[in-house]
Amino acid sequence: MTDRLSPTLDPFQLAEELSGKHLIGGNLVLSASGRTFDVTNPATGKVIGQAAYGEAADVDAAVAAAKAAQAEWAGLSARQRGKLVAECATLLTQHAEELGRLVALETGKALRTESRVEAGVLADAFVFYGGLGSELKGESVPHSPDMMTVTLREPIGVVGAIIPWNVPMMLMALKIAPALVAGNAVVVKTAEEAPFACLRTCQIMNQVLPPGVFNILSGYGPECGAPLVAHPDVGKITFTGSVETGRIIYQTAAHKLIPVTLELGGKSPMIVMGDADLDRAVAGAVAGMRFTRQGQSCTAASRMYVHEDVHDAFVERLKAKVDAMTIGDPLDEATDIGAIISPQQFERVQGYLRIGQETPGMKMLRCASMPAGTELADGLFVQPVICTDVPADSPLGREEIFGPVTCVFKFREFEDAMAAANDSEYGLAASIWTRDLSTAMQAGKRLEAGFVQVNQNIVVLPGLSYGGTKHSGIGREASLEAMLDHFTHKKTLIINMT
Ligand code: ADP
Repeated sequence: MTDRLSPTLDPFQLAEELSGKHLIGGNLVLSASGRTFDVTNPATGKVIGQAAYGEAADVDAAVAAAKAAQAEWAGLSARQRGKLVAECATLLTQHAEELGRLVALETGKALRTESRVEAGVLADAFVFYGGLGSELKGESVPHSPDMMTVTLREPIGVVGAIIPWNVPMMLMALKIAPALVAGNAVVVKTAEEAPFACLRTCQIMNQVLPPGVFNILSGYGPECGAPLVAHPDVGKITFTGSVETGRIIYQTAAHKLIPVTLELGGKSPMIVMGDADLDRAVAGAVAGMRFTRQGQSCTAASRMYVHEDVHDAFVERLKAKVDAMTIGDPLDEATDIGAIISPQQFERVQGYLRIGQETPGMKMLRCASMPAGTELADGLFVQPVICTDVPADSPLGREEIFGPVTCVFKFREFEDAMAAANDSEYGLAASIWTRDLSTAMQAGKRLEAGFVQVNQNIVVLPGLSYGGTKHSGIGREASLEAMLDHFTHKKTLIINMT
């Protein structure tokens, strides 16, 4: 391979260079219409570049490129595909700092606490799945002595992946790495707010992958995402985003009778028992609430149920810990907390804060200091807020805010905490904090969520099966089963030996 891309550490330059492009069939190309739309830096409100304005014609081109490339890709041995995917991981590791800086610029997520970490997990997802090629095996079925019956895992064909803006590279990787290793070709539609880091990832990977195997489009949901879902040659959709959009996608997929994986919202409970190690629980609350991601996480621990014996101490220590965090320029190494992604999302969070302020008796503890400096004056910064004395029916405690706002509720009996935790339309993540093994195990079994933790609140990582129950979605990601169950068809082959 000649002329490998070299990392560009200036994200502003990179955003400009990538402006106006999709990547289809191995080439950076303009939209069929030539149109673009602005992408802004949430920390300053300034335009950093333009995304290509993808529409049905671009979807057609990308799906055609994927379809043309897929058969040959599927014709490679699974291990060979895995090897190429693992080679992508090596290149992505070399570009990790570059990608971290770029995603910090477009999403407003702090480089040190979030964006650099995301770039690392991105590469790790390809390492993980790159090693799983030989696990695409079937079974032998002891059906009849006269027949040799085996099952085969076959690729679906062209997979459409639609991703959100909060952890765009990592969520994309958890979709496309298993899809590719399983022998599919993919067309990704990036989120309108954050197209560049994913496009750059695609460009880097296209140095290793055959052209057309991994294509990427930018554009708005209804104009670019919807035609991708509806396209007759797309045989599977994997989506992360809102419940609302998930429903629309599921309807189209139902009409086409194609499978979907849907990772939707959450309102994840964290239960702190009276015997918990309080310092650990407080640290876990900060991590779990994803304050460093401005709370913009489906798994954010946005409902905290704390035993009455430790409630006040917990709130006090949590406030002190969040107060010590620095809100500021995402690219500054000193920054812990960056900016909210978009004016719409900022307004949505403000709307919830207004409801909180108008709720009689509810207390709202604003933490940490707003950033100083004129450069950031137009940035979409929100101070983290800890709400207490929240009525059980308050939208702040029931709806997904996707901002740095958490509610702390008091409970007395374990049964009450279980009932409250499970009284939600969502079922994505949950955690219990206790020193008692029996309490931990009971809660582990009873909490209605797909991703349950005891005495920790880590994020989804390659290898850990991840996904929701109830309105949080359908299907699992990040694990071996995700590749086998969600990106292959199972064929039964019955050979008559007589
Ligand atoms: P959010 O509110 O976080 O932006 P969305 O569910 O609207 O969540 O967006 C997640 C992803 O889904 C984005 O890439 C967006 O462009 C895409 N999207 C939005 N509407 C549609 C749609 N009707 N069909 C397909 N994709 C869509």
